[in-house]
Amino acid sequence: MQKRMGPVAPLTRGLGAPCRRPIGGVAVPPRGLTAPFIADVMLGRLARWLRLLGFDTLYSTDITDRELLRIARQEGRTILTRDTHFVGGCASNIAGGRASCIFIKSDDVFEQMKEVLSAIGPGVPDVMRCLKCNGILEPVTDKAGVEGSVPEYVYRNFNRFSRCALCGNIYWEGSHFRDFRERLRKALG
Ligand SMILES: [Zn+2]
Repeated sequence: MQKRMGPVAPLTRGLGAPCRRPIGGVAVPPRGLTAPFIADVMLGRLARWLRLLGFDTLYSTDITDRELLRIARQEGRTILTRDTHFVGGCASNIAGGRASCIFIKSDDVFEQMKEVLSAIGPGVPDVMRCLKCNGILEPVTDKAGVEGSVPEYVYRNFNRFSRCALCGNIYWEGSHFRDFRERLRKALG
């Protein structure tokens, strides 16, 4: 049985929350993949939305700053943080050429997303990722295969589904996701 949850539910412990995520269909041109991200504990919602847009984003509520820095250095991940003190730590790592850092100013997740996309330049990956585990989503070719794994009304009313290649979570396209992605595209011109 797949766990299900709306697209903006808060992250829980571990790498993500039980989730459900809309599927693509938004005509954002594929561009070069950016460096992967790792978000600090204050940026759970941003991490989820970055995954929705296909960005490789690690997030955990159970991680120390030291550990976060270590992973960023080892995996070449850009750190997303709201912690001004932490930015100082990032700076010393940037000097070593091993990690970079984006300081997020806004409380609003939409504005936060704009901050990230402005910092890294234009480009949205042409893949989508699981909110729960950051795995890449693959289209479900046989709709009957998800019957029983999603609510009945969803099965009846949606025809496009995706499945996480890592954890098997099922996603379908929802208006909330479409609206957010559209707003983002417009805001970024
Ligand atoms: Zn997954």
